[in-house]
Order: sequence, then C-alpha cells, then structure tokens
Amino acid sequence: MSNKSFDRRTLLKLAALGTGSLAAARAPSLFAEDPHVDPESGQAKALNYVHNAVDAKDHERYKEGSICANCALWQGGESQWGACGIFPGKQVAHDGWCTAWVAKQ
Ligand code: SF4
Repeated sequence: MSNKSFDRRTLLKLAALGTGSLAAARAPSLFAEDPHVDPESGQAKALNYVHNAVDAKDHERYKEGSICANCALWQGGESQWGACGIFPGKQVAHDGWCTAWVAKQ
C-alpha cells in the first residue's frame, strides 16, 4: 500500500478523530442550526446517503438494523438530527444511513 493512499477504515478513523472529535466536543444542541445533508448533493450520492435507512435496505452494503444513530460516526445523541464526521457542518438524520456506516466498538 502506498503511504499516500488510505483504505476505508483509515479514512473513517481520521474522520472520527478529526471533525468527528470536534463535533463530539460540542453538545448536539450546538450544531442544531447546521443544515441537513442534501441527499442529492455529490458527496451524499457518492456515499449513498439516505435520510431513512429503510430506503437503503436493498443496497448490497446495508446491514439490517444499521442507522446513523448506531454508527460510530454519529454525534447526535438521542436527537433526530446530528453531526457526522463524514459530513462536516451538516446534520444527518437519526434514522439515516450511508455506505460509510461503521459499527460502534
Ligand atoms: S451512517 Fe454515514 S451519514 Fe450516518 S452517521 Fe454513519 S457515516 Fe455518518
């Protein structure tokens, strides 16, 4: 592997340690004013993001029961919308999902 390339797991770790940790330092209510991710945006489409995981149930990478709220990158607590290190400055839906979903450890 080249030193300049990152695999998906490394990317997710960097996201969690970078913007994710910044978001984690803020209470969910502090980013409640951030706009919701537009599922039609280029980044959202690239990651197959949907506001409701039910809409992704036929995706080959979808795992039963996975939603943003149980993803390691979710920063929203019990809120209906919350921050995610993959979409800095935006909020994703509690029941959303994307192909970057990663189980909490
Ligand atoms: S499933 Fe995707 S959009 Fe949702 S919290 Fe995880 S990485 Fe973010």
